[in-house]
Amino acid sequence: MIEVDLLVTNIGELCRMGEGTGPLGGSAQGNVDAIPRAALAVRRGQIVAAGPEAAILGAYQAHETYSAEGGVVLPGWVDAHTHLLFATTRENEFAMRIEGKSYQEIAAAGGGIHSSVRHFRESDDASILRRSRRYLKQALALGTTTIEIKSGYGLNEEQELRALDLIQKLKEETPQEVVATYLGAHEIPKDVQREAFIEDILDTLEKVAAGRKAEFCDVFCEEGVFTPEESERILVKAREVGLKLKLHADEFGDTGGSKLAVKLQAVSADHLHGTPPERAKQLAAAGVVGVLLPGTSFFLNLDHKAPARSFVNQGLPIAVASDFNPGSSMSQSMPLMVSLACVQLRLTPAEALVAATVNGAAAIGREGSKGRLHPGFDADFQVLDLDNHQQIPYHYGVSHVREVFVGGEPISAQS
Ligand SMILES: [Zn+2]
Repeated sequence: MIEVDLLVTNIGELCRMGEGTGPLGGSAQGNVDAIPRAALAVRRGQIVAAGPEAAILGAYQAHETYSAEGGVVLPGWVDAHTHLLFATTRENEFAMRIEGKSYQEIAAAGGGIHSSVRHFRESDDASILRRSRRYLKQALALGTTTIEIKSGYGLNEEQELRALDLIQKLKEETPQEVVATYLGAHEIPKDVQREAFIEDILDTLEKVAAGRKAEFCDVFCEEGVFTPEESERILVKAREVGLKLKLHADEFGDTGGSKLAVKLQAVSADHLHGTPPERAKQLAAAGVVGVLLPGTSFFLNLDHKAPARSFVNQGLPIAVASDFNPGSSMSQSMPLMVSLACVQLRLTPAEALVAATVNGAAAIGREGSKGRLHPGFDADFQVLDLDNHQQIPYHYGVSHVREVFVGGEPISAQS
C-alpha cells in the first residue's frame, strides 16, 4: 500500500476534466471526464491518483480520510477575470440604471469608473484590504480556489503600484491562488493628457516588471478608451519587460481588440461581445483563450451576447469568469456564471464547467497546476451535495458546497 496524506472517498461523481495541460476547445470543450463511484489520493498538496474507488482504495492508504457522501467532486473554480480590489460599491448607479438613466446621465451624476478611481485614491489600505478579504472569502466559500485580480482604479503610477502591492498582500494572506494583472490602461483620467498618460503607463510597466508586481498586463482596448494602436504600444512594451498579455476586447463592437489579440498572440481576449464569429479560428490558431463574462451582460441587461456557441463550434477554447467589479458585474459567484453561460451563451453544462476550470486556468497561465484533478495537479477541489455535474448550473442560486479543499486542506479547518 502506498502512503498518502489524504483519501477522499465515496465520491458519487468525480469530474477530473479532460487530460493534458492545455485548454480544451472544440469537441473537447465539454470533456469533464466524469467517473462514478470514485476516490482521490492526495500527497503534499497535490493529486497523486484520481479514479474508480475500488482501484484507489486497493493501492493507497492515509491517516486522513474524507467522505464525499456520494456528492460530486470537481476542481475549484478558476475565476480568470476580476476587478476585486476596489474601495466602494456603486449601488446608487444600479438603482439609476433600473430607473432608465443612461450611461451619460450616470456619469454626469458622478458615477462610473471615475468615481471608483476617486474613492480608491482617497481610501486607506486597511479599509480596501478589509473589503477585499471579505470578497475573497465569499468567493472561496462558493468554490473559487484560483482568482485573477486586476489593478486599474489607481490610474497613475503611484496608485497603480499601490494597488498591485495590495493584491500581493491578499495573495500572501489568502489560501486561494491569486494572479495579479496590471491594468493601468483601464481608462484615461479626466485631468491628464492622453499622450502623457500613455507615456506614464510605459514608465510604470518597467517598475511593475522590476518589482515582479504582476504576471499579466491588460489593456481596455475599446471605442472611446484605448485605440488598437495605443493598446499595441502598451502591450508590446509589456511583453518586452516580461509580462504576459491580456485584452479587454470588443465589448461594444468589433473595434480592433480581438484582431490585436491575434496579432500579439495574447494569452486571453476577454468580453468578445462584438467579435464576429468567424474570427474564432484566427484566435484559436494564435493560441488565445476567449474569456466570456456573462455576468456583465446579465447585470447590464444587454440583449447582445458573445457568439459563444459559434466560438466553441470553431474550436476556440472558451473560459467563463465573473468580471467582478462594482459597476457592471457585482458578483464573484462562479456557480452563477456557469448557469448564465448555459442559459444565455448556450454552452452545455459540461462545456461551461470546463470553461470555469480548465480554460480559466489556461487564461491566467496556470494550465499545468490548476483546473484539473489528475496526478501532478494541485489538490484544489470542491465537494458538492449534488448527484451529478449537470445539476451544477441547473440548480442555480443556492450554494451546494459541502467543503472546499485548497492544496489538500479543507477550508473549514482554516477559519
Ligand atoms: Zn473587466
